[in-house]
Amino acid sequence: MALISVGTMAFDAIETPFGKVDQIVGGSGTYVAYAASNFVTPIQQISIIGYDFPQEELEQLKKRGVQLEGVEVVPDKKSFFWSGKYHLDMNTRDTLVTDLNVLADFNPVVPESYQGAEFLMLGNLSPNIQMSVIDQLKERPKLIVMDTMNFWMDIAMDDLKAVLLKVDVLMINDAEARQLSGEPSLVKAAKLILQMGPKFLVIKKGEHGALLFHENQVFAAPGLPLEEVFDPTGAGDSFAGGFIGYLAKTKDISFNNMKTAIIVGSACASFCVEKFGPNRLREVTRVDLEKRLAEFVQLVNFDIELV
Ligand code: AMP
Repeated sequence: MALISVGTMAFDAIETPFGKVDQIVGGSGTYVAYAASNFVTPIQQISIIGYDFPQEELEQLKKRGVQLEGVEVVPDKKSFFWSGKYHLDMNTRDTLVTDLNVLADFNPVVPESYQGAEFLMLGNLSPNIQMSVIDQLKERPKLIVMDTMNFWMDIAMDDLKAVLLKVDVLMINDAEARQLSGEPSLVKAAKLILQMGPKFLVIKKGEHGALLFHENQVFAAPGLPLEEVFDPTGAGDSFAGGFIGYLAKTKDISFNNMKTAIIVGSACASFCVEKFGPNRLREVTRVDLEKRLAEFVQLVNFDIELV
């Protein structure tokens, strides 16, 4: 079951209350690919990198079943660079630098070999790029999941709304849901957003878990209470990768299966934050994942009897 993933492959500089790195591999597409490849291959990656992106990273991704034919390499430019600083609570961060570099003139080309993929993950990127990928697919995938962020709401809201009409699942955080809908109540915001195109809406609430909305149904997934959160960068993308990877593996896109997929996504995100960049995600094994999923089950499992 092929899964196309579109997103950035980048360098990040990250500062958290617990440490600092000046240059580490990142990018929404990188995190999605690492998380999703635990469940399904091939991951058909669409991205753009400069001369500086490490060959070693590309080899690692290939070994995990990530196809790179759709990753354009620009020999005379640098890769996308993002820098952020987290506040003490780790749920909020300031973007310090966004250097588009190669991303400034990215016109994604979907390779012929990617045609027919049944799952599409539109990682956080300009809505125009997301739309261009949808338009190039000859057959509509069975499921299109879209991530976005406040940055695009600020500068390209109309384009973003046009993409919303074409996707099945939208994934955003609570602040973004409020911004997109103009509604402070998340439940009301969800109702409004479900009228903008997507049939399913996932609202991520950082360490507090995530909500899944569909028609009149809601499902709440907890965040795993972790003793140490080292670096939340990429948590949202790891969540998305785990979510769509699991759906692609099980080939079941019902609301019920999406509940499980949300827990799987949360498990991937919980690993991601344990080390800087994708370092932890890279080393996670099947056994680690199974253990963590059991912890989630334990966390929300209780008996109740009203007497
Ligand atoms: P997350 O923490 O899940 O929101 O994702 C963090 C990743 O997104 C970082 O590795 C960045 O390289 C990447 N990123 C940050 N800003 C943007 C942007 N405007 N467009 C695309 N990717 C971005």
